[in-house]
Amino acid sequence: MTIPMQLTLLRILLIPVFVLFAVYYGHSVGDGAPQEWLRWSLFDHPAGRFAKGRIALLGDAAHPVLPFLAQGAALAIEDAASLALLLRQERPDIPQTLLAYEKQRLDRARKVQDEARRNGRIYHAGTLIAFGRNRVMRHLGPEGMTMRYDWLYGFRIPE
Ligand SMILES: Cc1cc2nc3c(=O)[nH]c(=O)nc-3n(C[C@H](O)[C@H](O)[C@H](O)COP(=O)(O)OP(=O)(O)OC[C@H]3O[C@@H](n4cnc5c(N)ncnc54)[C@H](O)[C@@H]3O)c2cc1C
Repeated sequence: MTIPMQLTLLRILLIPVFVLFAVYYGHSVGDGAPQEWLRWSLFDHPAGRFAKGRIALLGDAAHPVLPFLAQGAALAIEDAASLALLLRQERPDIPQTLLAYEKQRLDRARKVQDEARRNGRIYHAGTLIAFGRNRVMRHLGPEGMTMRYDWLYGFRIPE
């Protein structure tokens, strides 16, 4: 049996499992939609200093990103890679290395935070601006939109 056929068979076999699960928990299949919208508080915290002495922060603790660019985890991974590269010397001077880490990461983190804020404003734009936004996005298309983010997705940690 080919792999696509195996996957189709698996899907068919899984349907009764999902139905039993839904019945057991008292919901009919497809009744998973929320009953009401909830407000989710968002707090902005522009990145400041995040290394002092032998202590450094990384990820959200150092530079939380508003959720309009989906880059918080990506920045945290970049931070970890940056730290790992800087600390790989035999006997690193820890405070100096952590300062170098902060220097390497601060502008990047601020730029990503700024872009997330900007995206938030664009996503929530009012009628007229939203009309212009939609026209521009349609004109750019998926490729144009991706090219706008070369600086974001094409980033490499300096070696
Ligand atoms: C709904 C949603 C969707 C997201 N989507 C994306 C995405 O598509 N792409 C992306 O890049 N980012 C995304 N993010 C952001 C991303 O999840 C965060 O930026 C990322 O998890 C930050 O990683 P972190 O390790 O810095 O912090 P966290 O993942 O928050 O880890 C911190 C950890 O520390 C633990 N902790 C806290 N206090 C203590 C304590 N006193 N003692 C011990 N442990 C403690 C916490 O339990 C937690 O496990 C999303 C976030 C959300 C909420």
